[in-house]
Amino acid sequence: MIRKFIRKVLRLAPATARPVLREPAVIPRARHGIAREAVSQGSARACALLQDKGYKAYVVGGAVRDLLVGVLPKDFDVATDATPEEVRGIFKRSRIIGRRFRIVHVYMGREIVEITTFRGSEGSAAKTDDHGRLLADNVFGSQAEDAARRDFTVNALYYDPSTECILDYHHGVADLEQKTLRMIGDPGTRYREDPVRMLRAVRLSAKLGLFIDPAARRPIRALAPLLENVPQARLLDEMLKLLTSGHAVKCLEALRAEGLHRGILPLLDSIPDHPPGDRFVFLALSDTDERIRAGKTSSPAFLFAALLWQAMCAAWERCKAAGEAPIPALHLAMTETLSARDDNIAITRRIAADIKEIWMLQPRLEQRAGKRPYGTLTHPRFRAGYDFLCLRARAGEVDAELPDWWRRFQEANSSQRAEMLLPETAPKRKRRKRKTKSHPADPADGDLPRSNPAYPADGDLPRSNPAGNGFPPSSSGE
Ligand code: ATP
Ligand code: MG
Repeated sequence: MIRKFIRKVLRLAPATARPVLREPAVIPRARHGIAREAVSQGSARACALLQDKGYKAYVVGGAVRDLLVGVLPKDFDVATDATPEEVRGIFKRSRIIGRRFRIVHVYMGREIVEITTFRGSEGSAAKTDDHGRLLADNVFGSQAEDAARRDFTVNALYYDPSTECILDYHHGVADLEQKTLRMIGDPGTRYREDPVRMLRAVRLSAKLGLFIDPAARRPIRALAPLLENVPQARLLDEMLKLLTSGHAVKCLEALRAEGLHRGILPLLDSIPDHPPGDRFVFLALSDTDERIRAGKTSSPAFLFAALLWQAMCAAWERCKAAGEAPIPALHLAMTETLSARDDNIAITRRIAADIKEIWMLQPRLEQRAGKRPYGTLTHPRFRAGYDFLCLRARAGEVDAELPDWWRRFQEANSSQRAEMLLPETAPKRKRRKRKTKSHPADPADGDLPRSNPAYPADGDLPRSNPAGNGFPPSSSGE
């Protein structure tokens, strides 16, 4: 009772909460099946060189786990008992990075191998914030301590390429076989130490097809608010991993199921909870998942453009309702949507410029009259804009006939293209004579401020949307 009280006062975890240090099980290749050729050449060579000098060295963490479930690892990290300076002394082409916890990047041909010194924990002397979040995690330790401070049992596996054995400290191999993601130590304490582990639980279970052990799942809902104390940059890093994991849809559904999707990141908050908004976002994410799983690249600009589209359309409607003409309103809305984000660390200026182009192409793609489609077709971002339009059509936001027209227009020869163009419908207004030659694609309703250099000169003008639903007008108006 008194001990419990002292622990409460000192904000210490219960005695049983700290992961127990264990001797590892040594699992031979005959049992786990991973041949040394399965790990990258660079990581195998780094381990061999470190071992030659008398140090321990293993391929560790996610790579071993992924190989065991037949997923191609993203990278092959190495853990060792050599200090960063000692590692640096062995590998000429290397550099130490990180200030708080220094790791070494070793250049092996084109591969960069990340070598980390075993980390320990300061035990009850560890500094935490008021909620139990570890503020520092930067002391060296033994291999058993290194294993115990990792999050899930399946991540505490060490593969030795020279013997082809796995050192398994917390029954991670058995957990993988049973498709279970189990926390090392007491889940509540481990989430308090680092709330990002809750997001990792969701991402890793989706990526690896594991179910989260009930003991690790139970505390999540109650502890979800702790994510608010985590620095934005870290959250964003984790969210980007999640969105580009190839399992974004599954992850997002799991985040919602666990009550983790609100208040974490403005980017996620802007995803509508209900159709049609969420239908659009889920379609975009499932397209991205498909691309990533097929080994194709996925542009962050396209992904962000999709995630923020509904928010941008709402802002656009607001600006128009406040009396702005459509194009200036679009520019205002784009700027507002992109700059009102706390997470704009990820949305670099270049990405923001690409997002804007994808959005600006949407009203342009709705214009099939006059000479405008020729200019649209040669736009450097046409492909992304067109793909975005297809997505909108699949979400029921524009008529499927519109992207189909553009598909045919791209494939057509020049005379067929000329025949496909729609006639200008709006009556030509009498213009006052200007000194400069008028532009052939000048919009009929004339609310594009050509004098403003901030707006493109080739007429990307949306007609106002009669449905007033926050989306650019559909093709029907032409
Ligand atoms: P992936 O590479 O698929 O993103 P991963 O588990 O390898 O997943 P990394 O961020 O590469 O994730 O981390 C490497 C290893 O470091 C993990 O396998 C785990 O052992 C450990 N680790 C990472 N983040 C944490 C954390 N928040 N708490 C404890 N251990 C962690
Ligand atoms: Mg990894």
